[in-house]
Amino acid sequence: MISQVNRVVIQSQIVESIDPAATVITKMREQGISSLPRNYALVYEFLNTSDSAFIREYGALGVRPTQSQLDDIGMKFLPHHHGVKVVEETRERISDEMKGMIRLFRQDQATRQRYSDLLGDTSSRMSGQAASGSDALDALVQVLASATGDTLEKAEAIVRQMVDRASEMAQVKSELEEYKRLATVDPITGLSNRRAFDDRLSVVYRDKPSAARHALLIADIDHFKMFNDTYGHQVGDRVLSVVAKVMKSALSEDAFVARTGGEEFAIILEDASLDIARGIADRVRLVVERTSLKNHYEGLDCGRITITLGLCMASDAADAEELYSNADMALYVAKDAGRNQVKAFDTKLKLKKMLRFNR
Ligand code: GH3
Ligand code: MG
Ligand code: MG
Repeated sequence: MISQVNRVVIQSQIVESIDPAATVITKMREQGISSLPRNYALVYEFLNTSDSAFIREYGALGVRPTQSQLDDIGMKFLPHHHGVKVVEETRERISDEMKGMIRLFRQDQATRQRYSDLLGDTSSRMSGQAASGSDALDALVQVLASATGDTLEKAEAIVRQMVDRASEMAQVKSELEEYKRLATVDPITGLSNRRAFDDRLSVVYRDKPSAARHALLIADIDHFKMFNDTYGHQVGDRVLSVVAKVMKSALSEDAFVARTGGEEFAIILEDASLDIARGIADRVRLVVERTSLKNHYEGLDCGRITITLGLCMASDAADAEELYSNADMALYVAKDAGRNQVKAFDTKLKLKKMLRFNR
């Protein structure tokens, strides 16, 4: 078990060390932890964390913790640990499969080599013994026939194994692809999640000429806390998915829509003027407002819900971060102005908000 004092010493070693990686690896070695990337991430975070629960639970592990003990702590304290674990396990399976394939190829090569040696040997014996009568020739032909049969059988077995392995590799590959897809999808709404949104937003400014025509809309459901308090979280979840569907229905295929947080959505429009973006934002707002949240099957009528939107043109910001913060500022002003409306960012808005804060 690592005392708090030792931990602080190791932590300060990490801070001061020229090579923090070496400190982590030394620590892993001392504790007898296998050198998987996810274990490295866990030990690194442990040595840098100030979370007392994490320190306590990790500290209680002692030497030679099992992989599942480490994973339990990783899942609990490192939000991306599960993702790292899945990707790593899949990579290990692919690597095992590759090794298996290589072994099979080698086996196949060796079988062919043996057969070719035998052919060479037989042919030289045939030319040497041609004169010594048909019995010797018969014997040689027999050896050759049985070797041919044997080689064919082995080759068939190897091909069968290769086919099995190839199909297993295809399955692993599709699992990995599905995992990659899941890592970018929000499970409640099926929209892109925050991670995918961040990735998409970060490329807006990559191509300068087209960046100017991009618009970012941030939509937030009004008084959703009250809605949840009235109808329950589960109904709230269903409404999130209805709002997502309805919003998508009001947008063209090439609009990028994501659920970026609890009851917050973001839309990236690729080729829009301010007027067009404002029009689209208002269309999205209206379509949500007009949706009746009535479940005929359960006889539950939750009335209607509204959203408020903030919008900013990419030309009104220098980078993705500023674009997001400007659209968020517009959203904040729209909420303040009474909700269920759209506000576009402009510099006057910024000034107005700054004045409010300075009051
Ligand atoms: P405002 O109009 O100012 O946006 O008010 P609000 O109540 O929507 O905003 P606030 O930020 O006070 O509360 C957000 C609420 O959203 C809190 C929580 O009940 C709800 N929420 C957040 N994430 C989820 C979720 O995944 N499912 C459900 N059902 N509700 C969520
Ligand atoms: Mg809200
Ligand atoms: Mg919100």
